Amino acid sequence: MRSNMLTKSVVVLFSLLLSMAACRAQDAKPLPLSIQYVTKSVEYAALCEQVYGLAWPVVKQKALAQTENWVVVLDVDETVLDNAQYAVERAQIDSGFTRQSWSAWVRREKAPLIPGVKAFLDSLRTLGPLAHVAFLTNRRFENEEPTVANLRKVDVWHDDDIILTRKSRDDTKADRRRCLEEGTGRCEAKGPLSLIALFGDNIRDFMPMQGIENARNYRQNELPRDARWGTKFFMLPNPTYGSWEQDYQ
Ligand SMILES: [Mg+2]
Repeated sequence: MRSNMLTKSVVVLFSLLLSMAACRAQDAKPLPLSIQYVTKSVEYAALCEQVYGLAWPVVKQKALAQTENWVVVLDVDETVLDNAQYAVERAQIDSGFTRQSWSAWVRREKAPLIPGVKAFLDSLRTLGPLAHVAFLTNRRFENEEPTVANLRKVDVWHDDDIILTRKSRDDTKADRRRCLEEGTGRCEAKGPLSLIALFGDNIRDFMPMQGIENARNYRQNELPRDARWGTKFFMLPNPTYGSWEQDYQ
């Protein structure tokens, strides 16, 4: 009798747990496809590996022809560091980017690497004393320390690397690229550097781009003939966010 009751209780408890789990599964909203593409798809990882893999022989050939100091410039977010976990956590609470939550994420220093970037950088560092690596990011200057710490944790930071975070709203990426080329201001310590390759996930990692009309014109008329793609400019995929969301405003 007692064992019969016990069995019944176990069955009831088990059904209860099952229905709770079913309710929770119904409540959980699926993540946006753009985030799933980054976190789950083999295609996303293959694209990243492909970009860095194809870039290596091109960059190597250019590097070996240099007689002065040169630099490869990499954006950080979604180019070197993968912040998909941040996107997942924001989506799970039905929220998007906020400056505060982003800073908290940056300070966790937990972003893993984008596929392919470590092998590329390791190879680049074998190219002799003229070689330099610069991380050029719109992460704010206040977050420079945790950014370097994160890069160090995933083993892509060397002490003679350059990092150029954003010091103010007016401090554009184009300004910081000029700073590297001219070797002035914040870039004085290294002197002028020849920018032989740029890596990014946003058009502004390569050139200024303002307004939907300019973007449309560049995409339709200039981009197909712009020989810098795949020779100097290397674009990583990022379907989750970018200037394109706001029509390049
Ligand atoms: Mg980026």
